[in-house]
Amino acid sequence: METAPAVEQARAILAAGLAPALKRTDAPAYGVFPVYSPVELYRAAGLFPIGLMGAGGQIDIVHADARFQSFVCSIAKSSLELGLQKRLVGMEGVAFHSICDVARNLASVFKRNFPGMHIEYVHLPQNAAGPETEDYLVAEFRRILAGLERRLGHRADDAAVAAAIREYNEPRRLMRELYAIRAKEPERISSAEMFPLVRVGTILPPDEHARILESAKAEFLARKHRRMDRVKVIVEGAFCEQPPLGLIETLEGAGCYLVDDDFCAGWRWFSTDVPEGPDPVRQLARAWLERGRATSTRYNPDKPRHKDLVRRVRETGAQAVLFMPAKFCEPALFDYVIFRRELEKENIPHLLIEFEEKMWTFERTRGEVETFVESLLFD
Ligand code: SF4
Repeated sequence: METAPAVEQARAILAAGLAPALKRTDAPAYGVFPVYSPVELYRAAGLFPIGLMGAGGQIDIVHADARFQSFVCSIAKSSLELGLQKRLVGMEGVAFHSICDVARNLASVFKRNFPGMHIEYVHLPQNAAGPETEDYLVAEFRRILAGLERRLGHRADDAAVAAAIREYNEPRRLMRELYAIRAKEPERISSAEMFPLVRVGTILPPDEHARILESAKAEFLARKHRRMDRVKVIVEGAFCEQPPLGLIETLEGAGCYLVDDDFCAGWRWFSTDVPEGPDPVRQLARAWLERGRATSTRYNPDKPRHKDLVRRVRETGAQAVLFMPAKFCEPALFDYVIFRRELEKENIPHLLIEFEEKMWTFERTRGEVETFVESLLFD
């Protein structure tokens, strides 16, 4: 199957790295660390939000090791290394979020090492189902806007937030559509194509991203395809640090169709559009609560993550789950215990595969996945 031209375009933009992305628009770039970030607020303040999601294996860690313990995920080290190697010059600031201790510490390390940057630490609700949660999150979003106003000297009003919500709804809707097509006909869109199409949105303005996604959708729908003898799987656990493309190619080469995954989860956060209406900041907060993904960095007792995973398995017709956490990712590894228990209760086969963004040899993983696939195909 020939790679779609829109995918080639996305891959070329990603291969160029962060440097051109920082200068892509007249607006100053503003980094957002995973998982979810309210990008609409930064956009409304006149900034250009771009994902600070590690270096994707593109740089060597020379300085950052000295600032961290050895048992820390790669995304934290390589994100810091980008700054220490002066590759984030021109970035107005970075937002981190209350997802784990590593991200919390990284925010402090950034503050100390890059005093000229506007470092924001977003306190997302600990409990997404509490009675006061919506008001709390609205207040937190307004605090962020006030901080940006002090920094930039101008105010992001409600009209600007509403416009930014409309802008980001568009690529998110298209990504949902592509995911739905792949879930139904995984032979039509390979995941090695889907991944760059999604990831490129972290370094593009939303309108440019939407154009690439529109082209890709048209190319995929026009494509002739043939289903192969493969196992349909869901990949879970890669919501923060992103796997190398070679690993996704390896999963497919070993006989898997990925029918769902949580790659770049924060950039695809909402299950439907964020509604338009009065008080857009509240609309955004409410959408985070009601339409947000079930993921390991978000606690919602009303919608447990392990139940949501089983629901997605049933809905997509997946035959197995590949649990794929980044090495040393505590939120994902803690959840593995809960997910595993639930999957076993439901008789859903699963396999654990750890990765690092800089992983470059996949032979062992290929062997493990092939064996797993064969056990399912010939059971
Ligand atoms: S990969 Fe895991 S441990 Fe590392 S920053 Fe992300 S959520 Fe935290």
